[in-house]
Amino acid sequence: MYDPKSLKAEEFINHEEILETLDYAEKNKHNRELIEEILDKARPRRTSKGIECAGLSHREASVLLACDIPEMTEKMYSLAREIKQAFYGNRIVMFAPLYLSNYCVNKCVYCPYHYQNKSIPRKKLTQEEVAREVVALQDMGHKRLAIEAGEDPVNNPIEYILECINTIYSIKHKNGAIRRVNVNIAATTVENYRKLKEAGIGTYILFQETYHKKSYETLHPAGPKHNYAYHTEAMDRAMDGGIDDVGLGVLFGLELYKYEFAGLLMHAEHLEAVHGVGPHTISVPRVKHADDIDPDVFDNSIDDETFAKIIACIRIAVPYTGMIISTRENETCRDKVLSLGISQISGGSRTSVGGYAGYAPDERPHDTEQFDVSDQRSLDEVVKWLMDLGYIPSFCTACYREGRTGDRFMSLCKTGQIQNCCHPNALMTLKEYLEDYASPETKAVGEKLIAEELKKIPNEKARKLAAEYIESIHLGRRDFRF
Ligand code: SAM
Repeated sequence: MYDPKSLKAEEFINHEEILETLDYAEKNKHNRELIEEILDKARPRRTSKGIECAGLSHREASVLLACDIPEMTEKMYSLAREIKQAFYGNRIVMFAPLYLSNYCVNKCVYCPYHYQNKSIPRKKLTQEEVAREVVALQDMGHKRLAIEAGEDPVNNPIEYILECINTIYSIKHKNGAIRRVNVNIAATTVENYRKLKEAGIGTYILFQETYHKKSYETLHPAGPKHNYAYHTEAMDRAMDGGIDDVGLGVLFGLELYKYEFAGLLMHAEHLEAVHGVGPHTISVPRVKHADDIDPDVFDNSIDDETFAKIIACIRIAVPYTGMIISTRENETCRDKVLSLGISQISGGSRTSVGGYAGYAPDERPHDTEQFDVSDQRSLDEVVKWLMDLGYIPSFCTACYREGRTGDRFMSLCKTGQIQNCCHPNALMTLKEYLEDYASPETKAVGEKLIAEELKKIPNEKARKLAAEYIESIHLGRRDFRF
């Protein structure tokens, strides 16, 4: 039986409820009146406290996704842009993945790290190597990382992950520092989540891969990840372990996207119902070519247009949840989806273990790579590109460091203080980037952008203070935040 408050995977991600949702969506996909009603419900509204959005249920959002009337799709895109603008403005948060180890005991059929792949060299970074990678990432200008590892209790136990987090936070190279470490490791115990929390992690990210239980079990034929319930209930354990910010995602291409979309939103509804706060982020990876992996064997791949629509519909349904896109996607695709809802992107990424230190910007080790990177530009190129498109690349990590996690972050969104808080923080961290790492061309574009964007901080006091901090950054001081 479907129950969003249940702690059992099969009850909060209920197969029958998804099938009924898809049926309802199919029957109503040309019901203009209902679609207009749904769009209207999701529209941002000004209240005495600020701007609020009601969001949508998985059923309502599934109707939007199923609708194929071009004029309605345009309306969805325009609403998605409006919501994005209301809560995220033109800021895009930057991050990079850091692969620690590709040892893995699972057999995920889409992942080159599966234990039966004998052609991929196995590698695990030593603490000295982690330090070298972090220096290389800091030299690029990164402040926020997502650490990645295969699941292997012998080679990558939780103690190893904790040691790496410690090393990452300890490296202060020139003006650099990693100020937020997000963690993407396999589902684990409440006790281990508590240890991650104590180590000061930002978001705990775990992709569901697919919400379809049967397919899940076929796609993960062996290893601890085979257990659907243990994997699906991981975010509840993470929250029980004290982690407020969790990141959901499905790997698009494995199953029917409409099924995944409904499952993803049901998962978000479940977290809200049980823990009082929805997911901090949603990622939207698509299956890519990799060593021993041919993406064409998965016959549920989605085209760029469908991909864009999924992103717009997620934006409308869960307006306060950040959305992440990785370098799995190329420049053209990233350009399209940025305005529709994406709030975080990676730049200059390497998906191999030890892929940063000792390599020139255009040099790319492929031996231990997890998947082919489509956007191969350097961080500086991505930063300049974003600014040319009118976005503010942000290296901000302030919320997490100020304890604005979980529902405290959501209330910042709702009270409309974002423009007096996130906007100056984005500009100040961009200024740090320009001073310490940018090429002369990027710096020139960035300085102009900062001058223009400073004027848009609504509160006079905040505007003045931000201008003073930016001048101080120019004079050599670092790490201001609102
Ligand atoms: N081992 C952990 C786990 O199982 O959740 C950490 C995650 S893994 C390092 C990061 C993610 O990469 C996976 O969750 C999966 O969605 C994605 N991934 C794996 N193979 C991929 C491929 N061929 N193309 C695109 N993404 C892939």
